[in-house]
Amino acid sequence: MKKTYNIAIDGPAGAGKSTIARRAAKELGFVYVDTGAMYRAMALYFLRKGSDLKDEKAVGDACGEISVDIRYENGEQQVLLNGENVTGLIRTEEVGNAASAISAYPAVRAALLELQRTLAKNSNVIMDGRDIGTLVLPDADCKIYLTASTRVRAVRRYKELEEKGTVCSLEEIEREIIERDNRDMNRKIAPLVQAKDAYYLDSSSLTIDQVVEKIKALAFEKGLEE
Ligand code: C5P
Repeated sequence: MKKTYNIAIDGPAGAGKSTIARRAAKELGFVYVDTGAMYRAMALYFLRKGSDLKDEKAVGDACGEISVDIRYENGEQQVLLNGENVTGLIRTEEVGNAASAISAYPAVRAALLELQRTLAKNSNVIMDGRDIGTLVLPDADCKIYLTASTRVRAVRRYKELEEKGTVCSLEEIEREIIERDNRDMNRKIAPLVQAKDAYYLDSSSLTIDQVVEKIKALAFEKGLEE
């Protein structure tokens, strides 16, 4: 079987990874894999159950009760939690913060690793997350560390929520982003770090189009055939 071409995009919350990866995948004819959505689906399970997210043992023990699957509908990733399509339910700040809390536990990460690797083995993918270039796909053909200043990321998130009609405070969003980054970067297992061979891309003053073009150019530079 022909080896697939894999692009790994890692970076902090709100750097624009999913928007950019989704767009680049469409233009390149790749499958977009949003690994954050998998952690969010697991987080939703624990929130619904009323679990104490600080209780690592209880969370770890319950991982066996959870099955997360990915399906594509019209090219869009759908996340299934024990067979239920939860794609529309996982985009809240509450679920994002809970995902950040439980993703620090080895049992949670182990539960998702194989699914992520299998997806990359079966198709050309652009996969985004926190540890894709470092741990999930260390041999990815092209790696990008996508970031932006905390203020820019907070403003983007604020506008997104405002468009959805959610009332929120910019300061509070910025505080939560800083807190989430701290947790993701300083955890013992799979911390968010730039892979040695990843290209550092700061999107603070770039448009979505500019970032997408840059990523496509990098992929072609790194052996992707047109
Ligand atoms: O990217 P997103 O904000 O949807 O991810 C939610 C949380 O899931 C992150 O804050 C991070 O803690 C966790 N995550 C992770 N590893 C990944 C993707 C997401 O730890 N590959």
